[in-house]
Amino acid sequence: MPLLGVIGGSGLYDIPGLEITGAEKIATPYGDPSDVYRIGKLAGTEVAFLPRHGTMHHIQPHKINYRANIWGFRELGVTKILSVGAAGGISGPMEPGSIVVPDQIFDMTSGRHSTFYEYDEVVHIDFTEPFCAGLRERIFAASEMAGLRVIRKGTYICVNGPRLETAAEIRAFSILGADMVGMTGMPEAVLARELELCFAGISVITNYAAGISGKKLTTTEVVESMKAATEKIKELLKAFFATDFPVPACFCGQALKEAKM
Ligand SMILES: [Zn+2]
Repeated sequence: MPLLGVIGGSGLYDIPGLEITGAEKIATPYGDPSDVYRIGKLAGTEVAFLPRHGTMHHIQPHKINYRANIWGFRELGVTKILSVGAAGGISGPMEPGSIVVPDQIFDMTSGRHSTFYEYDEVVHIDFTEPFCAGLRERIFAASEMAGLRVIRKGTYICVNGPRLETAAEIRAFSILGADMVGMTGMPEAVLARELELCFAGISVITNYAAGISGKKLTTTEVVESMKAATEKIKELLKAFFATDFPVPACFCGQALKEAKM
Protein backbone atom coordinates (compact mmCIF):
# COMPACT_ATOMS: atom_id res chain seq x y z
CA MET A 1 0.00 0.00 0.00
CA PRO A 2 1.39 3.41 -0.86
CA LEU A 3 1.81 5.56 2.17
CA LEU A 4 2.94 8.78 0.62
CA GLY A 5 0.96 10.85 -1.81
CA VAL A 6 2.24 13.54 -4.14
CA ILE A 7 0.03 16.06 -5.91
CA GLY A 8 1.63 17.68 -8.93
CA GLY A 9 0.76 21.15 -10.16
CA SER A 10 1.23 23.16 -13.34
CA GLY A 11 4.22 21.79 -15.23
CA LEU A 12 4.57 18.75 -12.97
CA TYR A 13 2.43 16.06 -14.56
CA ASP A 14 4.62 13.17 -13.55
CA ILE A 15 7.54 12.56 -11.24
CA PRO A 16 10.69 11.94 -13.20
CA GLY A 17 12.32 8.81 -11.85
CA LEU A 18 9.11 7.34 -10.46
CA GLU A 19 9.01 3.70 -11.51
CA ILE A 20 5.34 3.21 -12.23
CA THR A 21 3.99 -0.09 -11.01
CA GLY A 22 0.29 0.50 -11.50
CA ALA A 23 -2.59 2.94 -11.80
CA GLU A 24 -5.70 3.17 -9.67
CA LYS A 25 -8.94 4.73 -10.79
CA ILE A 26 -10.85 5.69 -7.67
CA ALA A 27 -14.53 6.55 -7.46
CA THR A 28 -15.48 8.75 -4.51
CA PRO A 29 -18.78 9.96 -3.01
CA TYR A 30 -17.75 13.41 -4.27
CA GLY A 31 -17.17 12.47 -7.89
CA ASP A 32 -14.05 11.74 -9.86
CA PRO A 33 -10.53 12.78 -8.91
CA SER A 34 -8.50 14.75 -11.46
CA ASP A 35 -7.00 11.60 -12.93
CA VAL A 36 -6.00 8.03 -12.12
CA TYR A 37 -3.53 7.74 -9.25
CA ARG A 38 -0.25 6.46 -10.58
CA ILE A 39 1.38 4.15 -8.11
CA GLY A 40 5.11 3.73 -8.23
CA LYS A 41 8.38 3.56 -6.40
CA LEU A 42 10.81 6.37 -5.87
CA ALA A 43 13.99 5.72 -3.95
CA GLY A 44 12.43 2.55 -2.56
CA THR A 45 9.32 4.23 -1.20
CA GLU A 46 5.86 3.51 -2.52
CA VAL A 47 4.21 6.65 -3.78
CA ALA A 48 0.80 7.56 -5.21
CA PHE A 49 0.95 10.46 -7.64
CA LEU A 50 -1.92 12.60 -8.88
CA PRO A 51 -1.62 15.49 -11.34
CA ARG A 52 -3.98 18.10 -9.91
CA HIS A 53 -5.03 19.51 -13.28
CA GLY A 54 -5.18 16.13 -15.02
CA THR A 55 -2.43 14.76 -17.22
CA MET A 56 -3.44 17.00 -20.12
CA HIS A 57 -3.81 20.04 -17.84
CA HIS A 58 -7.45 20.36 -18.78
CA ILE A 59 -8.93 21.14 -15.34
CA GLN A 60 -8.93 24.79 -14.26
CA PRO A 61 -8.09 25.64 -10.61
CA HIS A 62 -11.70 26.53 -9.75
CA LYS A 63 -13.02 23.31 -11.33
CA ILE A 64 -10.70 20.89 -9.58
CA ASN A 65 -12.58 18.37 -7.49
CA TYR A 66 -10.44 18.90 -4.40
CA ARG A 67 -12.61 16.69 -2.22
CA ALA A 68 -12.44 13.74 -4.62
CA ASN A 69 -8.67 14.15 -4.98
CA ILE A 70 -8.01 14.08 -1.22
CA TRP A 71 -10.60 11.39 -0.54
CA GLY A 72 -9.02 9.19 -3.22
CA PHE A 73 -5.64 9.38 -1.53
CA ARG A 74 -7.17 8.19 1.69
CA GLU A 75 -8.91 5.34 -0.13
CA LEU A 76 -5.48 4.24 -1.32
CA GLY A 77 -4.20 4.19 2.23
CA VAL A 78 -2.10 7.34 1.91
CA THR A 79 -1.56 9.10 5.23
CA LYS A 80 0.90 11.79 4.17
CA ILE A 81 0.57 14.12 1.20
CA LEU A 82 3.10 16.45 -0.37
CA SER A 83 1.44 19.01 -2.57
CA VAL A 84 3.53 20.74 -5.22
CA GLY A 85 2.17 23.87 -6.87
CA ALA A 86 3.18 26.97 -8.77
CA ALA A 87 2.91 30.35 -7.08
CA GLY A 88 3.64 33.97 -7.87
CA GLY A 89 6.20 35.72 -5.69
CA ILE A 90 5.07 38.79 -3.74
CA SER A 91 7.60 39.49 -0.99
CA GLY A 92 11.35 40.03 -1.27
CA PRO A 93 12.92 36.56 -1.15
CA MET A 94 10.25 34.92 -3.32
CA GLU A 95 12.14 35.13 -6.60
CA PRO A 96 11.26 33.03 -9.64
CA GLY A 97 12.90 29.64 -9.28
CA SER A 98 12.70 29.63 -5.48
CA ILE A 99 11.21 26.68 -3.66
CA VAL A 100 9.12 27.61 -0.65
CA VAL A 101 7.62 25.45 2.08
CA PRO A 102 4.83 27.74 3.26
CA ASP A 103 3.86 27.77 6.92
CA GLN A 104 0.64 29.77 6.63
CA ILE A 105 -2.32 30.11 4.30
CA PHE A 106 -4.71 32.93 3.65
CA ASP A 107 -7.87 31.71 1.93
CA MET A 108 -9.41 34.18 -0.50
CA THR A 109 -11.26 31.58 -2.54
CA SER A 110 -15.02 31.35 -2.71
CA GLY A 111 -17.58 28.94 -4.06
CA ARG A 112 -15.35 25.91 -3.66
CA HIS A 113 -16.41 22.82 -1.74
CA SER A 114 -14.10 23.34 1.19
CA THR A 115 -15.34 20.80 3.73
CA PHE A 116 -16.34 17.17 4.01
CA TYR A 117 -18.78 18.19 6.75
CA GLU A 118 -21.36 20.05 4.74
CA TYR A 119 -24.54 18.44 6.04
CA ASP A 120 -24.75 16.07 8.98
CA GLU A 121 -22.07 16.81 11.49
CA VAL A 122 -20.86 20.15 12.77
CA VAL A 123 -17.08 20.09 12.75
CA HIS A 124 -14.77 23.02 13.46
CA ILE A 125 -11.32 21.78 12.65
CA ASP A 126 -8.34 23.53 14.25
CA PHE A 127 -6.35 25.14 11.45
CA THR A 128 -4.03 27.41 13.40
CA GLU A 129 -1.07 25.71 11.74
CA PRO A 130 -2.38 24.62 8.35
CA PHE A 131 0.56 22.40 7.40
CA CYS A 132 1.94 19.28 9.10
CA ALA A 133 4.90 20.24 11.31
CA GLY A 134 6.42 16.77 10.92
CA LEU A 135 6.32 16.72 7.14
CA ARG A 136 7.73 20.24 6.98
CA GLU A 137 10.71 19.19 9.12
CA ARG A 138 11.25 16.20 6.87
CA ILE A 139 11.23 18.40 3.78
CA PHE A 140 13.86 20.63 5.40
CA ALA A 141 16.02 17.62 6.24
CA ALA A 142 15.63 16.33 2.67
CA SER A 143 16.58 19.71 1.23
CA GLU A 144 19.77 19.73 3.30
CA MET A 145 20.60 16.23 2.13
CA ALA A 146 20.01 17.20 -1.48
CA GLY A 147 21.97 20.44 -1.05
CA LEU A 148 18.97 22.47 -2.13
CA ARG A 149 17.98 25.84 -0.80
CA VAL A 150 14.37 26.03 0.26
CA ILE A 151 12.64 28.95 1.93
CA ARG A 152 11.18 27.54 5.13
CA LYS A 153 8.47 30.06 5.80
CA GLY A 154 5.91 32.01 3.88
CA THR A 155 2.26 32.94 3.80
CA TYR A 156 0.46 31.56 0.75
CA ILE A 157 -2.62 33.48 -0.27
CA CYS A 158 -5.03 31.44 -2.34
CA VAL A 159 -7.26 33.02 -4.98
CA ASN A 160 -9.92 31.53 -7.23
CA GLY A 161 -8.47 32.36 -10.60
CA PRO A 162 -8.40 31.42 -13.35
CA ARG A 163 -7.46 34.98 -14.15
CA LEU A 164 -4.26 36.36 -12.72
CA GLU A 165 -4.41 39.13 -10.13
CA THR A 166 -4.39 42.89 -10.59
CA ALA A 167 -1.48 44.97 -9.36
CA ALA A 168 -3.80 46.54 -6.76
CA GLU A 169 -4.81 43.12 -5.45
CA ILE A 170 -1.19 42.10 -5.07
CA ARG A 171 -0.41 45.37 -3.25
CA ALA A 172 -3.30 44.61 -0.87
CA PHE A 173 -2.19 41.00 -0.39
CA SER A 174 1.28 42.25 0.46
CA ILE A 175 -0.16 44.53 3.15
CA LEU A 176 -2.09 41.54 4.49
CA GLY A 177 1.17 39.67 4.95
CA ALA A 178 1.11 37.37 1.94
CA ASP A 179 4.45 36.26 0.51
CA MET A 180 3.13 34.37 -2.50
CA VAL A 181 -0.09 33.82 -4.38
CA GLY A 182 -1.51 30.66 -5.88
CA MET A 183 -4.84 29.17 -6.95
CA THR A 184 -4.88 25.65 -5.53
CA GLY A 185 -3.55 25.59 -1.95
CA MET A 186 -7.08 25.81 -0.61
CA PRO A 187 -9.19 23.91 0.07
CA GLU A 188 -6.66 21.12 -0.49
CA ALA A 189 -4.90 21.72 2.82
CA VAL A 190 -8.00 21.88 4.99
CA LEU A 191 -9.61 18.86 3.36
CA ALA A 192 -6.53 16.80 4.19
CA ARG A 193 -6.73 18.03 7.79
CA GLU A 194 -10.42 17.06 7.97
CA LEU A 195 -9.45 13.52 6.99
CA GLU A 196 -6.62 13.61 9.58
CA LEU A 197 -3.95 13.27 6.90
CA CYS A 198 -0.54 14.90 7.15
CA PHE A 199 -0.21 17.53 4.44
CA ALA A 200 2.55 19.93 3.42
CA GLY A 201 2.85 22.29 0.49
CA ILE A 202 5.88 22.87 -1.69
CA SER A 203 5.50 26.02 -3.75
CA VAL A 204 7.60 26.72 -6.78
CA ILE A 205 7.80 30.43 -7.46
CA THR A 206 7.33 30.55 -11.20
CA ASN A 207 6.99 34.30 -11.69
CA TYR A 208 6.68 37.58 -9.86
CA ALA A 209 3.06 38.38 -8.99
CA ALA A 210 1.27 41.16 -10.87
CA GLY A 211 2.89 44.57 -10.67
CA ILE A 212 6.01 43.38 -8.85
CA SER A 213 8.32 43.21 -11.85
CA GLY A 214 6.42 45.61 -14.10
CA LYS A 215 6.23 42.95 -16.82
CA LYS A 216 3.16 41.25 -18.29
CA LEU A 217 2.56 37.77 -16.90
CA THR A 218 2.33 34.84 -19.26
CA THR A 219 1.42 31.20 -18.74
CA THR A 220 4.44 30.25 -20.88
CA GLU A 221 6.63 31.82 -18.19
CA VAL A 222 4.85 29.76 -15.52
CA VAL A 223 5.21 26.45 -17.34
CA GLU A 224 8.82 27.15 -18.39
CA SER A 225 9.83 28.07 -14.82
CA MET A 226 8.11 25.00 -13.47
CA LYS A 227 9.94 22.84 -16.00
CA ALA A 228 13.21 24.46 -14.97
CA ALA A 229 12.43 23.79 -11.31
CA THR A 230 11.36 20.19 -11.94
CA GLU A 231 14.92 18.93 -11.58
CA LYS A 232 15.15 20.55 -8.14
CA ILE A 233 11.75 19.17 -7.11
CA LYS A 234 12.81 15.72 -8.29
CA GLU A 235 16.01 15.90 -6.20
CA LEU A 236 14.03 17.12 -3.21
CA LEU A 237 11.44 14.34 -3.50
CA LYS A 238 14.14 11.73 -4.04
CA ALA A 239 15.95 12.80 -0.88
CA PHE A 240 12.63 12.95 0.95
CA PHE A 241 11.71 9.40 0.01
CA ALA A 242 15.21 7.94 0.28
CA THR A 243 15.75 8.71 3.91
CA ASP A 244 13.92 7.36 6.84
CA PHE A 245 14.12 10.49 8.91
CA PRO A 246 12.64 10.33 12.34
CA VAL A 247 9.25 11.93 11.79
CA PRO A 248 8.76 14.70 14.30
CA ALA A 249 5.50 14.51 16.20
CA CYS A 250 2.43 16.07 14.69
CA PHE A 251 -1.22 16.23 15.60
CA CYS A 252 -2.74 15.73 12.15
CA GLY A 253 -3.87 12.21 13.01
CA GLN A 254 -6.02 13.51 15.88
CA ALA A 255 -7.43 16.54 14.10
CA LEU A 256 -11.04 15.49 14.66
CA LYS A 257 -10.58 15.01 18.38
CA GLU A 258 -12.46 17.81 20.10
CA ALA A 259 -13.46 19.30 16.73
CA LYS A 260 -17.02 17.98 16.65
CA MET A 261 -19.89 19.84 18.22
ZN1 LIG B 1 1.13 15.50 10.39
